Amino acid sequence: MAESPLTTHERVQSSAVGVAIVRRDEHGEWIATAANRHFFNPLQAQRIESPKPAVPVKTLVPPAAWPAFHEALEACFTNADADADASAAERVGIAHGSDGLNWRYSLTPLACVNDVNATATPIEILATTVAIGPATSSSTPTQASSASRYRAVVDSAYDAIVTIDQSHNITLFNRAAENLFGYSAAEVLGQRIETLLPESVRAHHSQNVRKFADSPLTDLRPMNPPRMDESNSVFGRHRDGSIIPVEIAISKIDVDGQIEFTAVVRDITNRAQLMDSLKKQAVTDALTGLPNRREFLAFVDKVQHTQDALSVFILDIDYFKEINDNYGHHVGDEVLCVLANVGVSQTGEPSLFARWGGEEFVAALPGADAAQAHRIAEQLRLRFEKQDFEHAWRLQPVPFTVSIGVVTREAGEHDVEALMKRADRALYRAKNSGRNRVETG
Ligand code: GH3
Ligand code: MG
Ligand code: MG
Repeated sequence: MAESPLTTHERVQSSAVGVAIVRRDEHGEWIATAANRHFFNPLQAQRIESPKPAVPVKTLVPPAAWPAFHEALEACFTNADADADASAAERVGIAHGSDGLNWRYSLTPLACVNDVNATATPIEILATTVAIGPATSSSTPTQASSASRYRAVVDSAYDAIVTIDQSHNITLFNRAAENLFGYSAAEVLGQRIETLLPESVRAHHSQNVRKFADSPLTDLRPMNPPRMDESNSVFGRHRDGSIIPVEIAISKIDVDGQIEFTAVVRDITNRAQLMDSLKKQAVTDALTGLPNRREFLAFVDKVQHTQDALSVFILDIDYFKEINDNYGHHVGDEVLCVLANVGVSQTGEPSLFARWGGEEFVAALPGADAAQAHRIAEQLRLRFEKQDFEHAWRLQPVPFTVSIGVVTREAGEHDVEALMKRADRALYRAKNSGRNRVETG
């Protein structure tokens, strides 16, 4: 330990020698008739300053240390009783408590009090204890208790905490980590950290940790640890093979000159699902489930940045207002949904059929030239005219027709808006020419 050495005087002054006078009561139980507050564990809750009446010795001794101490008391008593030679009866030993605390004790029979009135000679034993700390390490009782406090805090943490050493082997795995990853600590301690990662990132992980390890070790303040990855797109791997979206903060710590890494890992499955559904909502039309205008424009824009052929069309229901007026708005909604289903089935992959707004729909047909696009649009128009689709109408069949304006991308045309404007003009012509028609722009 790197503490400044105590002088002999200080050692004597600070020594915490426990002293107790103990004897057997009439039932043969060991009782203490006096004990100072250092007797055994100084952290022990139950103390007696001047026992009135005497208390069982067992209540003063940490449970783990009791069996050895009790045996020594019995031996001391037996020998003292046998020949009244105090030195033969003296016992010295080590009592081991829990948490690595140990005590050196000595038991000395006190001179027998020759009480002529007593039926049996009472034998008193002077018991002394000195805390000597764990046999295997140099830590003091205070260090041992702070270690167990540390362990308790780590285990009660809401977040998973995983520590790895310089060889990337797991050295700490708390309860929350056991719950998150499905492994017990015993199974993963000493194993590679890659055990907890999806197969797809295992190969690069060591390299990332090394890069992080090589970053300057200047910022070791516990409140501001260096972070390795602040993004949400990090994943862990459960024992059953499932992939868990997690948020992770990794700090580099210096433990006696050895670099270790502590990862605090939080399961964000619920948050990730919410983000996914919000993202989907943002690009989906709520009534029909089709991609919305934003999604359609993004799709077209992507194709416009390639040299690929592309045709688009805009479709508008004829006299839709009358459908609403004659059948009611909810029937109008049903027509929109029917149209959506038929439109998707008619255009198919890799095309995109979307709701433009109101009773207007659009299709992007990558790879389709003007003739192909016209054919697809004409087939769709005809299916609606003939009600050539499977649909069980809720009340009664609703006849309707559509008008469509088709355009094809010109060589080098990149402007999505200009393309859609041309399609709109073609649609306008279809409407003006009597509706239920396909016009090409
Ligand atoms: P045209 O042949 O010229 O296209 O005539 P139209 O009646 O279809 O066109 P107009 O633009 O006059 O009417 C469109 C109607 O679509 C008006 C609006 O109330 C209705 N509409 C827009 N969105 C919805 C919707 O989500 N559900 C229903 N039921 N009706 C809608
Ligand atoms: Mg319209
Ligand atoms: Mg219309």
